[in-house]
Amino acid sequence: MRSLDTPDISLNAFAGEKLRGLEAKNQRRILVDTARGADMALQVGGKDLISFTDNDYLGLSTHPEVMKASANATATYGAGSGASRLVTGNNPLYTALEEKIAEIKGTEAAAVFGSGYLANVGIIPTLIGAQDLIIADELVHTCIHAGIALSKAKVIFFRHNDTAHAEELLAANRDAHPHALIIVDGVYSMDGDIAPLGELAGIAERHDAWLMNDDAHALGTIGGGRGSAHACGVAGRVPLQMGTLSKAAGSYGGYLAASKTVIDLIKTRARSFIYTTGLPPAVLAASLKALDIMMRDTSLTEQTLAHAVRFSKALGLPTPVTPIVPLIIGSEVDALAASAALAEEGFKVIAFRPPTVPEGTSRLRFCFSATHTEADVSRLIEVCIKNGLKQDPEQDIEQDIEQDLKQAL
Ligand SMILES: *Cc1c(COP(=O)(O)O)cnc(C)c1O
Repeated sequence: MRSLDTPDISLNAFAGEKLRGLEAKNQRRILVDTARGADMALQVGGKDLISFTDNDYLGLSTHPEVMKASANATATYGAGSGASRLVTGNNPLYTALEEKIAEIKGTEAAAVFGSGYLANVGIIPTLIGAQDLIIADELVHTCIHAGIALSKAKVIFFRHNDTAHAEELLAANRDAHPHALIIVDGVYSMDGDIAPLGELAGIAERHDAWLMNDDAHALGTIGGGRGSAHACGVAGRVPLQMGTLSKAAGSYGGYLAASKTVIDLIKTRARSFIYTTGLPPAVLAASLKALDIMMRDTSLTEQTLAHAVRFSKALGLPTPVTPIVPLIIGSEVDALAASAALAEEGFKVIAFRPPTVPEGTSRLRFCFSATHTEADVSRLIEVCIKNGLKQDPEQDIEQDIEQDLKQAL
């Protein structure tokens, strides 16, 4: 019998050819077994590393109260949810979690999805159809692209954070479409900058467009933890606030916070809400406890940004406004080499390459967490400088960090 693993089978030939092409461009991706512990400690291939690459900005995934709530929910309800939420999977914890999200975001209601990815592929085609218009930032997350494709709407991308461009495109195209949606990331995951939601809310209102922000990296990191609409002072003017519970909330799941009417429609029509199994009770309990802690102790959010500001100062990088600090290297090979050099010194910092980032902008992306210690950050700074990653060697690193921090918060 012929082995199914031989290259002469056309399927294997196809996959092998694809992989060789990606390898040649240094774009092949490899999964690495990684055991995470508390305080950003990792074990990778028997080596201990400190992670500066996690999205667990507040360290809540390993917070004792979160882990306990999660274990208790499994003991009470079991490991799985049994079915779709509309069948028997709607564990009572969902109600508490959705109320909590709505309260944090300042909306009437919220809907929890299986993940942020599932949220975006469900929300967008439920609200927007083939006759409609979508105006989106060119750097929005890949799952927004997936949601846009499913909607079949006309889509036009505006230059990153360029609100004049967004308004120009909207003004020129709005009349030909019954509905229009503006979509942005609240915080851009590869650059760490914030969407100009104040201006975008005005544009949306002037042209009767619906504004949606993806707060995957903004919940727990800005706006006192409440996200980008709060950070920009437009909490009541972003009618569709999407996000995830898998980053700063340290758990898993996606959400939309919106009016009760919109949420009722989403729960009735969004395919990725309906035709998928409910989240495990342990995950719901973890999210709920994590959000409690996030709102109870806003010093976690402040600490995270403080680390990022201190690091950026020391390396001559622009003052960050979020805990995400990109250090652009350029080529894939150089970015991979820098990441490997930091790993040698005990730090895990992933190199991001195309297509995740634009060609020629491969980068190290540093993510700071409230559970990093001052000593962790000091040593990271030392190691980065030793490896030639400081941007402007002339800059005085003893500038007033306190001042910058006040501005950023
Ligand atoms: C991570 C991320 C998502 C996906 O969220 P998951 O819960 O991980 O599926 C969506 N949007 C943005 C901007 C993200 O960074």
